[in-house]
Amino acid sequence: MAKERILKGIAVSKGISQGTVFVYETKEIKVVQTPVPSMYLKGEIERFLDALEKTKQELTNIKERINKEIGADFAQFLDAQILMLRDREIIETVKKRIKSEEMNAEYVYHRVLDEYARKLGASKDQYLRERVADIWDVGTRVLRNLLDMTHASVIDVPKGSVLVAHDISPSVAALINPDNVLGIAIEVGGRTSHTAITARALEIPAVVGVEGLLARIENGERVILDGNRGILIKNPTPGRNQFYKGEIRKEVEYQKMLSPFCELPAKTRDGRQLDISANIEFFVEYTHAKKYGAMGIGLFRTEFLYLTRRGNPSEEEQFRVYNELAKKMEPDPVIIRTYDLGGDKIFSDYHEANPFLGWRAMRVSLDDLDFFKIQLRAILRASVNRNIRIMYPMISTFEEIKKAKIIFNEVKKELKKEKVDFDDHIQVGIMVETPSAALMSSHFAAHVDFFSIGSNDLTQYVLAVDRGNERVSHLFDHFHPAVLRLIKQVIDAGHKAHIWVGLCGELAADPLAIPLLIGFGIDELSMSPVAIPKAKMVLRALTVQECEEIAAKALKFRGAVEVKKFLRRAIRKKFPGIEGIK
Ligand code: PEP
Ligand code: MG
Repeated sequence: MAKERILKGIAVSKGISQGTVFVYETKEIKVVQTPVPSMYLKGEIERFLDALEKTKQELTNIKERINKEIGADFAQFLDAQILMLRDREIIETVKKRIKSEEMNAEYVYHRVLDEYARKLGASKDQYLRERVADIWDVGTRVLRNLLDMTHASVIDVPKGSVLVAHDISPSVAALINPDNVLGIAIEVGGRTSHTAITARALEIPAVVGVEGLLARIENGERVILDGNRGILIKNPTPGRNQFYKGEIRKEVEYQKMLSPFCELPAKTRDGRQLDISANIEFFVEYTHAKKYGAMGIGLFRTEFLYLTRRGNPSEEEQFRVYNELAKKMEPDPVIIRTYDLGGDKIFSDYHEANPFLGWRAMRVSLDDLDFFKIQLRAILRASVNRNIRIMYPMISTFEEIKKAKIIFNEVKKELKKEKVDFDDHIQVGIMVETPSAALMSSHFAAHVDFFSIGSNDLTQYVLAVDRGNERVSHLFDHFHPAVLRLIKQVIDAGHKAHIWVGLCGELAADPLAIPLLIGFGIDELSMSPVAIPKAKMVLRALTVQECEEIAAKALKFRGAVEVKKFLRRAIRKKFPGIEGIK
C-alpha cells in the first residue's frame, strides 16, 4: 500500500473534505501541423464542426449554471462567446482552408483565430479590443475538444473533486461550482488573497501555499483536505480515515450548536448592540447573509461583477444588481464599495512590477472618470430604496476624497436634471486600509460619513507583507501591535468626529479579535456570512468592561505572538475547549 503523505499549507477556508484530485492545469495547448490526405478532408471538416457543437453545448450548460447560481447578469459574457462560435466568416474560412491547404483542423483553426484576434486587437474600438480574450477563451475550448484534451476549464470539474492547481485567479475561482468542488488546494497564496476569500464565500474548504503541490500529487488520487489545519493528505491510512470520519461528525454537531446564534441579537452580555453584517462578492450571497443572521451587507465587493463577466458592466446592468440587492436586504443597509480592481484582481493587460502598490481601486476609478461615473450613477439610482451606502476603497490621500466628492456631486446634479430619484442623504464612507489613511484619519473623518477599516490591506501595507505571497505569510499577522494601534487610532478619530467606524477585513471574523475590537469601541463588524454565528456567540458572552480591560492589556505587548497568547488565554476562560479559538 502506498505510503501516507501529509502536504502542509495555510488553512484559509474551514471544513474537511474527502474527494478525488482534479488537477486544473493552465498548460498551453500545442497545435501541430499535419497534412491530411484529400480523401479525409470531408471528415476533417466534420471533426471541426463537431468540436464547435460540443463547445456550444458546454458553454450552454455553464451559462445555465451561472444563471442559476450567480445571476443572469454574470452569464452574459457566455452569450457573446456562444455567438462567436457561430461566426460564419470564421467557420467558412476554416472549412475553405482545410480543403485548399489540405491541413488538419486544429492547425487551420488556430491560424484563422490568430489572424482574427490580431485584427480585433488592433481596432480603435475598446469594446472590440476587449473581445480578444473572449476569442481565445472560446478558441481554446474548441481546440481542446479537437485535441480530445480534458480539463478545459475550472467550470468543467466533475462532482466529488478536490481541485488542485498552481494558482487560481479570483475571476476563475468565481466560476467554481461548489456542488462539484469539495475542496481547493493551491500552491501559492496567503490567507487574505482574494482567491482564499472567494473559497470562503463559496464555503469550500481550502488550503493554499502548499509548496511543490503539483509535483507531489496526481490527477485521480483520493485525498483528504483539512481546511481547519491547512493540510492535504494523500494515501490516508485506515486510521486516518477513521479519525476524519469522527472530525466530520464533530463539525456537523458544532454547526448545529452554532445555528441558534444566527437568530439571536448581536448584543454583549451587558446589552451593547453591535452591527454584524456580511461581506459578499456575488449577488446571490445575500441568501447566505440572511441565513446566518447578518444585519445588512457591510461590504459588497463589486469588482467581482466586472471580473466574472469580463469588461465593463453597463450602468443598467449594475443598477439592476444594486437595486435588487437593496430590495432583498430592505430595511437593512447595503454598503456598495466602488470597484477595487487591480492588486490580485487583474483586469487589464497592463502589467506592473508591484500591482498592490500600483494602479488599484480608487486610483483606477479616478483616472477613468467615465468608468467611475457609470458606477456612481448606478449606485445612486439604486439608492431610491434608501438603504444604500457608498464606500471608496484604498484611499491614501485627502485629494482623492476631494476629487471623488466633486465627481459624486456632478453625478448627483446630472441625475437631478434628469429628474431621476435617489437618496440625497446617502452615506458616503471610505475604507481605511492604507497606513496614510489611518494616520490621517482625524483629518479625513470630517469629510466622510463613516470609516470601514480594511484590516487585510492595512496589515499588508503596514507590515510590508504581500497578502498573497505564501513565502512571507508567516509575517502577515493582523494582531501585530502596529496594526492594532492604528485600528484603535482610526476608531478614536472617527468617534471624535461623530462618525461610525466598522471593520470589514478578515480580522472581524476572528473570534480572538472580537473582545479586542469591542474594547476599542468598534461600531460594526462585517465578515463572511458563515462566520457570523460564531462571532455572535463570542460577543454575547462578553461585557464591554471585560473587553475594554482585554483591549487595554493587548495594546501593551511587543509582538503579535504575545498578543495572541494573551487573547487566547482570556477567551479560553470563557469558552473552554472551544473549536476555532486555538
Ligand atoms: C481589506 O482590505 O481588509 C478589505 C476588506 O478589502 P479587500 O479584502 O477586498 O481588499
Ligand atoms: Mg482591501
